[in-house]
Amino acid sequence: MTEIAYRLPQKRTLVTALPGPESVRIAERRRAAVAGGVGSSVPVYAADADGGVILDVDGNSLIDLGSGIAVTSVGASDPRVAAAVATQAARFTHTCFMVTPYEGYVAVAERLNALNPGDHEKRTVLFNSGAEAVENAIKVARLATGRDAVVAFDHAYHGRTNLTMALTAKSMPYKKDFGPFAPEVYRMPMSYPYRDAGVDGAAAARRAIDQMEKQLGADAVAAIIIEPIQGEGGFIVPAPGFLPALQEWANANGVVFIADEVQTGFARTGTWFACEDEGVAPDVITMAKGIAGGMPLSAITGRADLLDAVHPGGLGGTYGGNPVACAAALAALDTMTELDLPARARAIGERALPRLRALAGELDVIGDVRGRGAMLAIELVRPGTSEPDPELTKAVAAKALAAGVVVLTCGTYGNVIRLLPPLVIGDELLDDALTVLEAAVREAAA
Ligand SMILES: *Cc1c(COP(=O)(O)O)cnc(C)c1O
Repeated sequence: MTEIAYRLPQKRTLVTALPGPESVRIAERRRAAVAGGVGSSVPVYAADADGGVILDVDGNSLIDLGSGIAVTSVGASDPRVAAAVATQAARFTHTCFMVTPYEGYVAVAERLNALNPGDHEKRTVLFNSGAEAVENAIKVARLATGRDAVVAFDHAYHGRTNLTMALTAKSMPYKKDFGPFAPEVYRMPMSYPYRDAGVDGAAAARRAIDQMEKQLGADAVAAIIIEPIQGEGGFIVPAPGFLPALQEWANANGVVFIADEVQTGFARTGTWFACEDEGVAPDVITMAKGIAGGMPLSAITGRADLLDAVHPGGLGGTYGGNPVACAAALAALDTMTELDLPARARAIGERALPRLRALAGELDVIGDVRGRGAMLAIELVRPGTSEPDPELTKAVAAKALAAGVVVLTCGTYGNVIRLLPPLVIGDELLDDALTVLEAAVREAAA
């Protein structure tokens, strides 16, 4: 594999307790300036980031196991991305693709069409955020089918705008008191092997399909939207066979099958897209997060007949496919290819999973270890039960942070520790982070 040249020392170094004094000062200014509704996972403020480390404003070097929620897969300051952004910004930052178009947008669309699974002809549209991509995938599906109903799943997360809140399963904090929500959204049972013992992928799909047929009728359904591995809902990997059976049913009934790969996409799970693992080629894929090395960009890529069905002007937005973000995406895709980040994601999984499994063998607070590639999780429970333990989960994340490792939590029950390291993290740094995490779980469980 290509050696990566890092700009910052790839080491965990603490020079203050966390948060340090400068972070505390900024946090005070923040309280007076930033709306209270915006939360942050950690109380330290970033000054610099490179490879697998985040340097904070007090000079602490933290190991990043979150990648800003699966965004900075190529690192937070990939030299190729940084140079492409600077070059494009020096030319033009915006003309609006709907006013005066530019080549970068077309080039990103070509790359995504080539990269997305399935040998059907494809078209792409660019937007700014994951939620916006999801909204537009639903718009396309409704227009193309002439149907209204949209099916989402238990534990799903699709965003925070009105329609995507409706698609998202969890009330607190995403939806509570923010309604009324968009209509014609229906929720079906997910395949959740750890909490669904004995229900294999085919049976779980049958269960969802029966409900769709009985409660909605297949010919009322415009789209099924599903995360191939659920993100915010708990890194839930459906049982094998679940996704292919849903896709097959969708195809047979004129239902648009949308894979929301906003979190799983771009090498994260060891393939370019997670649905490739079972040979699933969705009608439409939504993408964002890892797409552009941290610049805000999102996309939908899908069957040409669906995307071209929309009247000119029906899709777009002032900033969608911003030229600087497009330049960043092209550079990030080059880095992903040159460093073979799908292979690196698999290597991260192969390095981390045995250690997480060994820890689970030792400690009865770990109910499940799961994930694929560099999208890994442990689900924490009360000893000897499968009862979720969100307090323990918070304690583990806090202990890891105190020792200099940023880990994120997730899950419908708030009891999942998730690992989303930058795919450019080095082995030594990853090993050190896992040692810290192991100690954090042991201490919190004791
Ligand atoms: C993060 C996420 C979204 C929303 O993306 P935003 O850019 O935050 O709007 C949608 N779907 C999935 C699966 C996500 O993980």
